[in-house]
Amino acid sequence: MLDIAIIGAGPYGLSIAAYLRSLGLSFRIFGRLMDSWQSHMPKGMLLKSDGFASNIYDPEHSFTIKRFCADRGIVYSDNEIPVSLETFTAYGMAFKERLVPQLEDKLLVGLERVPKGFQLKLDDGEIVEAGRVVLAVGITHFQHIPANLAHLEPEFVTHSYRHRDLEPFRGRSVVILGGGASATDLAGLLRDVDVDVQLVARQSELKFHGKPQVGKPRSLWRRIRSPQSGLGPGWRSRFYANSASTFHLLPERLRLEIVRTHLGPSGGWFAKEKVVGRVPLLLGYSTENAHVHNGKVRLTARSANGSQREIITDHVITATGYKVDTQRLQFLSAEIRSKLETAGGSPVLSSTFESSVPGLYFVGIAAANSFGPGMRFAFGAGFTAERLRQALVKSVSRGRSFSSVPGMASAEKEEAGTL
Ligand SMILES: Cc1cc2nc3c(=O)[nH]c(=O)nc-3n(C[C@H](O)[C@H](O)[C@H](O)COP(=O)(O)OP(=O)(O)OC[C@H]3O[C@@H](n4cnc5c(N)ncnc54)[C@H](O)[C@@H]3O)c2cc1C
Repeated sequence: MLDIAIIGAGPYGLSIAAYLRSLGLSFRIFGRLMDSWQSHMPKGMLLKSDGFASNIYDPEHSFTIKRFCADRGIVYSDNEIPVSLETFTAYGMAFKERLVPQLEDKLLVGLERVPKGFQLKLDDGEIVEAGRVVLAVGITHFQHIPANLAHLEPEFVTHSYRHRDLEPFRGRSVVILGGGASATDLAGLLRDVDVDVQLVARQSELKFHGKPQVGKPRSLWRRIRSPQSGLGPGWRSRFYANSASTFHLLPERLRLEIVRTHLGPSGGWFAKEKVVGRVPLLLGYSTENAHVHNGKVRLTARSANGSQREIITDHVITATGYKVDTQRLQFLSAEIRSKLETAGGSPVLSSTFESSVPGLYFVGIAAANSFGPGMRFAFGAGFTAERLRQALVKSVSRGRSFSSVPGMASAEKEEAGTL
């Protein structure tokens, strides 16, 4: 029986593993290394998060992206030069080599409760038992395709999550649905490979982040009025970025509303010049229905004032984001899914990320409704790893004697209440 199993090898799973590593707890970590970044984001993409907010965390903060870039001779800036997808992915791989070498490239296909914890079934047939399970499965299972398009075959409609290499679209026509960063990134990158691309969005205008002024520090007044944070500038973002514990204390309805509305759709500043004036935009229109005729998709879109447009295209990509819904985690047994208390599809979590199923923890986007919008970004992994480290140490120490938890510092033993 392992103390802990971590499922997922993105920024959250890796950070949690790096925090647990030196504590002497028995744990294993499973998942495809940096899979969302390596296989499900378009080549050539730039990160919207600033360099200083794009770290994977270890307790000493010894291997930041800044350090990685310095080691590899990659140009880096805390907030003036965007981090490329390729750099961030390579950073995740180097982080794993250095701090999480025990990662196992296996997927969880079944999770059931057993008397002392959980039984995990892995995709190679191995069965593992663990007292606690941390689900760090990120965005993998939560792609959202609008209902009025979901009936079309993948040949005609796909989610943005499906696209890494855009070359297969060269010479074809594509409609992107959405007005956020995924939509604008994809539209600009498709245009780069000579795709006849058009962007359709509900918003009447596209929003982009402000361009940083290179080499010119922000004035004192701007820093006071709109302080920097891991979620971008502004007091509200700063609160949500730095006060996840306090956020957890807010009433549930308010938390859900904040997570739904804060940081609405907007592209990175660098996407603006790739899209505006290069990609035809149909703004203020929502798609009503779609069907395939003569090998083409025919979309009907309607504006708020009732005007209607028909768009004919080879393929539609829905850049319509991710919606957490625990029912979509098919590897959870029916018993676990039925026992999970949820709000708005997300698990209801304690102040230590534990769900209503004791010993089952959720992190990342699945924890955003509990701990705030920061959990949707790599930035939230630092808080999460630290909080979970404390919680898991306590939980494991309750379950067994300290002599078998050799790496645990005496301060932690004290905190865990057994010294
Ligand atoms: C287009 C796009 C751009 C983004 N840009 C940014 C950005 O600039 N900055 C930022 O901070 N965030 C960005 N994000 C958000 C990003 O997804 C999260 O920050 C980050 O991926 C969260 O990390 P994670 O570890 O929770 O999950 P993920 O990175 O999604 O990793 C999930 C992990 O879970 C594993 N997994 C899933 N199911 C199983 C299973 N059954 N068994 C075992 N393993 C499993 C996967 O193999 C993978 O290892 C972006 C997202 C998208 C879609």
